[in-house]
Amino acid sequence: MVNLDEDSEKIAALRKRLLGWYASSRRDLPWRRSADPYAIWVAETMLQQTRVAAVVERYQAFHDRFPTLVSLALAPEEEVLALWSGLGYYRRAFMLHKAAQFVAERLGGNLPTRAEQLRALPGIGAYTAAAVASIAHGEPVAVVDGNVERVLCRVAGWEAGSRKGGGAALRHKIEDLAGRLLDPARPGDFNQAIMELGATVCAPRNPQCLVCPLNADCITRGEHKMPERAPMTSRVVAYGISVRTRLVPGKRRGRIRREVLLERRPADVTVMPGMWELPLLLDPDVPTKELRMALRHSIMRVNYYVNIRTVFEDDVETMTVTGGERRWVPLREAAAMALTGLTRKVLKRARLTPSPPARVLARRRDETVPGEIL
Ligand code: SF4
Repeated sequence: MVNLDEDSEKIAALRKRLLGWYASSRRDLPWRRSADPYAIWVAETMLQQTRVAAVVERYQAFHDRFPTLVSLALAPEEEVLALWSGLGYYRRAFMLHKAAQFVAERLGGNLPTRAEQLRALPGIGAYTAAAVASIAHGEPVAVVDGNVERVLCRVAGWEAGSRKGGGAALRHKIEDLAGRLLDPARPGDFNQAIMELGATVCAPRNPQCLVCPLNADCITRGEHKMPERAPMTSRVVAYGISVRTRLVPGKRRGRIRREVLLERRPADVTVMPGMWELPLLLDPDVPTKELRMALRHSIMRVNYYVNIRTVFEDDVETMTVTGGERRWVPLREAAAMALTGLTRKVLKRARLTPSPPARVLARRRDETVPGEIL
């Protein structure tokens, strides 16, 4: 491995090889075509704990609807959450919205340029601050996300992602190494290059060491220990689909409107606060003849085995867990709401909501046509 204290020439060579590889191998991602700090901030927030492919699908719709920081700040929270649907970890959307409002109201709409200032905003952590400041403004601050951590641990021969791996001390060593390897002349490109390497070459499993630009510097070269993974746990839950019809007065005979019952998750829960979902059934075991749908849905390290049944309007009180805010929502409007991913999936499979692509939802935001964004 490169001796960082004694061999500045080797460090310079490492930077050159990594940047050269990035120039020829980087993926063409929508946010990389922009130098706008706001666009980079949105993309980097979406990318935390979410697959790039999922972000690619939703980033453009979000950006089309909220092209500037002020447009995001002025938007209703419900709409921000609806456009975030499918990305998961909705707290990020809440905090992004809150930070945009803070910047619009207190800072005249000008996003700070320095990493230290960015970190003072609600919900912006070290990673996002470093990414925005280095990519948009060329500040020499190193990013350390999961990909960077894995690459550097393998290069240095440290055991990453393990509870035995050293905790805070290891984290400190990784940040120190990232800071010393960072190219001060091109910090934004260097940060993106090492993250890209972790995402595409030095993958968690089966790293492609033969084509890796850091091969000559790497101690482990694929012979690393795999980090321990927390075991998945399982839970059985059940939700009810309750649909009713209502006659809406009109010019002649009026028209029939179909509505679905949705419940809002409390604002103080840690998972998907404020999102809308189907009512939870008191009894998770649904008799086979009543089972309308069964599916598996994973959230973090939990596999949910989900049973879905029809609940008639008269049975809602006795069969479901009551107490939260509920609303009968016209089916034509439901998919444009801030639904949980599971609810969106169930309504789509039950053919209760149509599914135009996410970017159509953004374009047609003033219409009541819903959009499926699985
Ligand atoms: S040589 Fe292999 S293990 Fe080392 S950084 Fe490259 S891909 Fe990762």
